[in-house]
Order: sequence, then structure tokens, then C-alpha cells
Amino acid sequence: MAKNILICDDAAFMRMMIKDILTKNGYNIAGEAENGAKAVEKYAELKPDLVLMDITMPEMDGIQALKKIRESDPNAAIIMCSAMGQQAMVIESIQSGAKDFIVKPFQADRVIEAVRKVVG
Ligand SMILES: [Mg+2]
Repeated sequence: MAKNILICDDAAFMRMMIKDILTKNGYNIAGEAENGAKAVEKYAELKPDLVLMDITMPEMDGIQALKKIRESDPNAAIIMCSAMGQQAMVIESIQSGAKDFIVKPFQADRVIEAVRKVVG
């Protein structure tokens, strides 16, 4: 069965781009969230197989959302989406349980490689 993925990014075009890459490679989009607080809510509601989590978002950033989700579900699989120059935040994310990270601007094959590695 196709894996369900929750996409969290405050930029609509970024969500659209990720959605396009994933659906073309046979993944299901469980839902979308435009900030960290929504990401936490949607995770609880949708129980996706994987979350793609932007770091810089309003309301609650991706690192806080990652921590909250992993508190409620220690097995949650989350890949961080970072921009250039966010190494410190990427390290904090990995230490907080993120499985991997991808760096913007995204290359489709790198996104799929990271997703496959985590959920198959
Ligand atoms: Mg952002």
C-alpha cells in the first residue's frame, strides 16, 4: 500500500512542489499543514507514515513541532526541510529525533531517496 505523507511548509508553492514529486513517485499525500501548530494537530488526526517538516514556519517552527510530535509518538518518522545556513537547526532536529533532512532548493531524486530510506 502507498505510504501516507504529511507535508508541512508555510509556502504553498513549496507544498505543491513536494506534493508533485511524491505523487509522481507513488506516494499518497495524507494532508498538508502551513505552520507547526497545524502540523502537530494534523499528525494526531491523520497518523501519517512520514512527515516532511519545514524548519522556518509561523506560529510554531518545525523544530518545536518535531519535538511535540515525537513526544506524543516516539516512533514518528520526520524528515526536515531546511534552507542553506540552517546547519545548527538541522543538528538540533536530528538530535531531537528527525530521521533525515533535505536542503532547499529541492532536487526530486534527493527528496525521493530520503523518503525511500525512511519509509520504503
Ligand atoms: Mg518556511
